[in-house]
Amino acid sequence: MDSYWIQRITHDCRFYSSLNHLNCEAFLPRNCYPIIDLKYDNNPSKGALSIGIKLKLVTGTYMTQDKRASFTKYESPTCKLCDEGDEDIEHLLLKCKILENIRHPFLKQLDDFLIRETTISFYNMTTDTRLQLILDCTKINHRRPDIILNKQVEQNCELISRKLCFALHSIRARTLNQQKEKKKVKLKR
Ligand SMILES: [Zn+2]
Repeated sequence: MDSYWIQRITHDCRFYSSLNHLNCEAFLPRNCYPIIDLKYDNNPSKGALSIGIKLKLVTGTYMTQDKRASFTKYESPTCKLCDEGDEDIEHLLLKCKILENIRHPFLKQLDDFLIRETTISFYNMTTDTRLQLILDCTKINHRRPDIILNKQVEQNCELISRKLCFALHSIRARTLNQQKEKKKVKLKR
């Protein structure tokens, strides 16, 4: 039964481009999938909220502006925070200038940690490898075979990237809500 589901999931994952960053091979029945594991999170209730956002991002179901625009002709794919370029996952996680102050301390922490543990700097990685590290670090060696992370390093990378994703999501949501409220006030006048 177990081998059936392992084979089925690893096989089916290949046909969904939105699951490109998810490490489907890490699926083991009765074992917690690494990126939803709260065991090492010192704030499990906040961690649980963060996992929801992380899962949406890694499975391509997070509603970025480019995705919204693909559903309706009334929406533009341009980022509503910075107005510079389309907002996709890469823009949100790595590029949007408005979120740089939020992003920087987490990426610095990730970089310091990686240099200490692997001698490889986060900032020397390609954009795709950086995205992979943030979204599901257990699949990093699919992008960079020379990077092998042990379980403890994976857990720490996951904790940092989980917090990063949640912080970016929270500030993005708050800023977009503020923009909406301002528009409502203008319309009332
Ligand atoms: Zn932006």
